[in-house]
Amino acid sequence: MREEALALDKSFVASAVFMDTLVTIEIVCPGSAAGCAERAQKAFAWFAHVETLCSRFDPKSELSRLSSSPLGVPVSVSPLLFELIEFACAVARASGGAFDPTVGRAMEASGFNRNYLTGEQKTSDDANAECSYRDVALDPESQTVTLSKPLVLDLGAVAKGFAIDLAAEELRPFQDFVINAGGDILARGRYSSGTPWRIGIRHPREPQASIETLAVSDMAVCTSGDYERPRPDGQLGHHLLDPQTGQPVDGVASVTVVAPSAMLADALSTAAFVLRPERGIALLESQDVEGMIVTTDLRVFETKGLSRYRP
Ligand code: ADP
Ligand code: MG
Repeated sequence: MREEALALDKSFVASAVFMDTLVTIEIVCPGSAAGCAERAQKAFAWFAHVETLCSRFDPKSELSRLSSSPLGVPVSVSPLLFELIEFACAVARASGGAFDPTVGRAMEASGFNRNYLTGEQKTSDDANAECSYRDVALDPESQTVTLSKPLVLDLGAVAKGFAIDLAAEELRPFQDFVINAGGDILARGRYSSGTPWRIGIRHPREPQASIETLAVSDMAVCTSGDYERPRPDGQLGHHLLDPQTGQPVDGVASVTVVAPSAMLADALSTAAFVLRPERGIALLESQDVEGMIVTTDLRVFETKGLSRYRP
């Protein structure tokens, strides 16, 4: 874990790496920088916790243990993991299966089979390519999950957003702060000048340029981009898969979603990416969130209400 902290005049900034992503917390500091630093450490700890809970690469993670549990047998899971899986399955239903938390095996087959911390490779030969979220049954009363087919659960599309929301709860004593996990952002309150936070949305083909700037307060802004995670083996492809084909989605370069929680923005950006522009925008509007979809030929589609976030 790499860490840097810097106490500026009125704002506190600290960064650390979790989930193969640089996470930065910026707090407009009302009191001592020491108070900010202490809270920021607690906020970072949530990223570590969520990563430990649902790493698809660590065989000891709760998620891996669930994925390899006997079929047809209800498995008790922790409240956080239950919440994540329940939410992921709800997004799967809402998106008609475009979003699917059982893409783990397809991710492995697409070359995303290496633990970023150790370089260790993982292949689950026994997992069934035909599986879907329908093979994951949840019982809220007993907080159990029952798998009906061999599959590999992958919560990569929601875990980061979930961790951002948990970290934001930890920072609740502060009015104004931003958590930025590799471009997935939650902004609370205002910037020191009293204006809403300005969030630059990366141009999918020009890494140093913004394609859009949004002004947000008490909102999360998450982006899924085909440029974000190249295949670890250097082959062509990216990490957003169409569950119907197991192949990377083509035609879409990036999707940005503005939503009240980071978990929702994170999940819906992935879902809309897989659904492609027309159906993707329709999903976002049906879920009452705003967003934009940029195609690989750089056409921009957006929800009707997105302009309200333009500064
Ligand atoms: P990033 O991790 O770059 O922020 P996303 O939030 O869009 O990107 O999530 C991408 C991750 O979601 C992939 O790495 C994989 O773990 C998972 N994933 C890929 N395709 C799907 C899909 N169709 N449905 C659900 N999760 C997916
Ligand atoms: Mg996502």
